Amino acid sequence: MAEVQLDTPVQYVKGVGPVRAQQLAALGVATVEDLLTYFPRRFDLRRQTQPIQTLRGDESNATVAGTVEAVSENRFAQRPIFQCTLDDGTGFVLCKWFHAPYLRDAIKPGLVLAVSGKVSVYKETLQFIHPMHQVLYDADGKDLSKDELLPVYPAGGKLTSGIIARIVQKVLPQAAGLIRPWFDEAYLEKRGLMGRARAVVAMHRPEDKDEWSAARRRCAYDECFLMQMGVAMARVRAVSRPAYPLANSPEIDRRIRARFPFPMTPAQDRVVGEIVADLAGEHPANRLIQGDVGSGKTVVALYAALLAVANGKQAAIMAPTEILAAQHYEKIRAYLAGSRVRTELLVGGQTGGDRRDVLEGLADGSVNLVVGTHALLGEAVRFANLALVVVDEQHKFGVLQRTTIRGKGFAPHYLVMTATPIPRTLAMTVFGDLDVSTIDELPPGRGKTLTRCIDMSRLEEVWPFLGRKLDAGQQAYLIYPLVNPSPQLNLMAAQQAYDELQAGPLKKYRLGLIHGQMPAAAKDQVMADFRAGRLQALVASVVVEVGLDVAAANVMLVMHAERFGLAQLHQLRGRIGRGASDAVCILAATPRNPVAQKRLAVLEASNDGFQIAEEDLRLRGPGELFGTRQHGLPELKVADLVEDYELLRLARRDAWELLRDDPDLCAPHHQQLRREFLKMYGASMPLLGGA
Ligand code: ADP
Ligand code: MG
Repeated sequence: MAEVQLDTPVQYVKGVGPVRAQQLAALGVATVEDLLTYFPRRFDLRRQTQPIQTLRGDESNATVAGTVEAVSENRFAQRPIFQCTLDDGTGFVLCKWFHAPYLRDAIKPGLVLAVSGKVSVYKETLQFIHPMHQVLYDADGKDLSKDELLPVYPAGGKLTSGIIARIVQKVLPQAAGLIRPWFDEAYLEKRGLMGRARAVVAMHRPEDKDEWSAARRRCAYDECFLMQMGVAMARVRAVSRPAYPLANSPEIDRRIRARFPFPMTPAQDRVVGEIVADLAGEHPANRLIQGDVGSGKTVVALYAALLAVANGKQAAIMAPTEILAAQHYEKIRAYLAGSRVRTELLVGGQTGGDRRDVLEGLADGSVNLVVGTHALLGEAVRFANLALVVVDEQHKFGVLQRTTIRGKGFAPHYLVMTATPIPRTLAMTVFGDLDVSTIDELPPGRGKTLTRCIDMSRLEEVWPFLGRKLDAGQQAYLIYPLVNPSPQLNLMAAQQAYDELQAGPLKKYRLGLIHGQMPAAAKDQVMADFRAGRLQALVASVVVEVGLDVAAANVMLVMHAERFGLAQLHQLRGRIGRGASDAVCILAATPRNPVAQKRLAVLEASNDGFQIAEEDLRLRGPGELFGTRQHGLPELKVADLVEDYELLRLARRDAWELLRDDPDLCAPHHQQLRREFLKMYGASMPLLGGA
């Protein structure tokens, strides 16, 4: 092989070739360097092998070791096959590999071989098809495997873990020497971190478990570090720009509060205080306002918006969907009825004169407050003096879009509202560049929501109960999850449920149907009908997840509840119990595993969004609750936000410190970091010097 460099395309690695290269590309591996950081997901211990006689024949993953007895090969079959039998003294298994002529040189009678993979039975013989394999001893009994550990790589399609392992092993000895240090010795020593090159090698081929743990810790640190640098840079860049200071006064405060038909709760007061202090500054505020559904975030946001207007500036409130934007708009118009504040709505569906009017008003400053969707980010939208942006349900937008809205030449203060309570751990990572305010108390006079889990097989008992509620004048949501991979099929699923209910158990009642694929106008119509009570029950896909507010809707039935995240179910449940009367939420599920059961039980037991979010994080891990990717941040491959919390904090502190000293990563000894940073974020996060 020609000499490899880190940026050598994998195709030129010996034994790869164009087909493998394409398969590797599908896994995100394009260069030798990518390959080096394509780490095993776990290691199987060789001593975890089991006696062959204990195999049942249906194991999805088992490891055995034995002596290679017979080897045979049919090179000329349509699918050339290489096979061997392994005997460990308790029994034998057959191992088969297709299209694997190279094994001829590796697997010979007399070797001791460990194999792991899926077990099946063919003609009454136990077999492994394409198992991962490792030679443990040669025919003379010499131990060939320095390591006790068999790497298991995330496989993809035809590219099995075993193949990846082989490719990596080939490259590792040559490429490891090319890995350059990120930090100096003293830095690493102080933090108890292993050198980068050694860590990368040990991630693939550790001496033992301890070495692997140390390597993993180092690589997790690096990931956290780069991520926190990105977060820190976004932050530094944002807050270093000038913003309009928005002054408050007792008179302004009195006038704003007079707009609400209720006094604020102590929690709202506290958060308003935090926001007001922020907005008085000459640099943009960056604050996350989290509070459970119904805790009164919108009211707080409106307070901030009106403070901007009172200072002669504009404010924008941005919602993730048109329905929610429209709902905010209506609510705000009601609060502001009779005032001189000009409030307009701007959504994607708008056309013609209406839209032109709004755009003109924004550009000349005559529109004080605009509520809208991401249409607000459009090219044509110009503001005269935008001083505040409030984004509702941030996690639908992501960090990078935030950069976009700021990049337009103004530096508004920035508030983010989220009703999905964010565990502390994640708040720091994902919203690490934001200050956090929490509204931890609901306004008084709310009914209670009782939650019950039932088995889907008992749905028959639910319909009469639901009927009685509807007869009594209440309204209900019937939520169907997205059960199909294609939007088209999802629509059919919701449609079918609707048809069946309308023809069967809910024949007597006025049902409506709403789902994500409906045109906005049709959705609006259905929502309006439901709100006005013309519809008694709403069969809905997950569009009602956030923000809908219908006080008479006090019953919710969630089908296939096990398919939802806990935080999502909690959000859904927040759609009911918004009035003074009590509400009932029924979670119908076919829980197949104990974790699913436990998760749903958490909802039965608690109405506290934060507790639920922490619990969800604990039970499921962060990946599903909050993929970092949907926040516009790079995905973490090694670090685990829960387990590596302390490491994350360390990396965060270090990243911030480094950027304080060298914000543009110009110092000669930071060049490797600069390179790694750019590799991770690419052009999406320009360095400070380039902003
Ligand atoms: P969130 O946006 O957090 O879900 P909202 O701001 O929409 O909550 O408020 C939910 C409901 O509670 C609204 O109907 C609102 O009018 C009402 N509300 C908000 N704050 C108070 C309060 N301090 N006292 C009484 N009702 C309130
Ligand atoms: Mg809200």
